[in-house]
Amino acid sequence: MGKENVNSVDVVELAMQLIDVESVTNNEYAMAQTLQSWLEAHGFTVELQFVAHPNRYNVLAYPKQSKPELATIIINSHIDTVPPYFPASIKDNKIFGRGACDTKSIIAAQLIAAHALLTTHGITSIALLYTVGEEHDSIGMQKANELSFPMAKFMITGEPTNSRTISGQKGCYMFSLKSKGTAAHSAYPEKGLCALTPLLNVLHAIQNERWPTHKLFGETTVNIHVEDGGVASNVIAGSAEATILFRISDKPFYVEQRIKQMIARHDAQNQITYHKICLHGPLELETVDVEKFKPYVVAYTTDIPVNRAVMDGKCKAVLFGPGSIEVAHSDHEHIDIEELKRSVQSYQDIVLTLLKRCGRDLRSKM
Ligand SMILES: [Zn+2]
Repeated sequence: MGKENVNSVDVVELAMQLIDVESVTNNEYAMAQTLQSWLEAHGFTVELQFVAHPNRYNVLAYPKQSKPELATIIINSHIDTVPPYFPASIKDNKIFGRGACDTKSIIAAQLIAAHALLTTHGITSIALLYTVGEEHDSIGMQKANELSFPMAKFMITGEPTNSRTISGQKGCYMFSLKSKGTAAHSAYPEKGLCALTPLLNVLHAIQNERWPTHKLFGETTVNIHVEDGGVASNVIAGSAEATILFRISDKPFYVEQRIKQMIARHDAQNQITYHKICLHGPLELETVDVEKFKPYVVAYTTDIPVNRAVMDGKCKAVLFGPGSIEVAHSDHEHIDIEELKRSVQSYQDIVLTLLKRCGRDLRSKM
């Protein structure tokens, strides 16, 4: 532990190479190919898993002498980024660029760590899984559920967590409410039916409710986005729509049930249509003490709840990565170079710790 791996000097160069491959969601093919060439040149067999047209592939890799069925630990992240793309540059000991922390640099650290685990520690019971579409709809992780890792006990997912492992992530509940009315001149409201009235009453009820709290995950919070509220102040709204996003700390099904009750109560004329977009509860994650940092809880969601083995309890998830979520997706997205270099060793330490938890003997040269 603590010994800097000689390979970590290459991580900056590799991170910059990966950032320079544009891979905004829906356009991940060049990134999949780049990972494939690097991995094949460094002792791994690569399979590209077709996800969607045009040319959207997940990348699955495992040591040449092994196979995915033998992997006890899956190292994972996503290869797509949010727009707009901007290339890599270095300033003030930081790498800037799209994906600098979410997640190109993380992938670079994971690749070098996996290679070191293979060559220095002789560890072959790992697989790497890189998915498309995490920034939009997690279509890649959904497809990856078709891959079989019968021995997998842990999945290490890379997202920027300030180099701390995460003890839990809040759940997510998103739905839309569309309300239909009859447009009319606002001087003659009796000629129309206002689509906004029932919607506003439901939204008001949502904001005034006390939602569940939990000792680990804290408060359930909600944010409302109104997409449509009619056309003008002198027209009775013929349609209205809102999308509501909850970060759930407890009792996801109770929250959904309360929403349905509120709609029933405030929508006397059956104007509102409820459409559920996603619902999953909070998730406790496996923690590892790395770099002497303590684990903490995050409010954002990742690909992890989409993974069936994790949700079925067959595989435990670890969430860890250098970099800060606060600069991800921003026009100044960056990662600290020293933190990135340390993470190469940290990913190895996490794998070695988890392998011990699997009760496996290491063929370690240490
Ligand atoms: Zn991400």
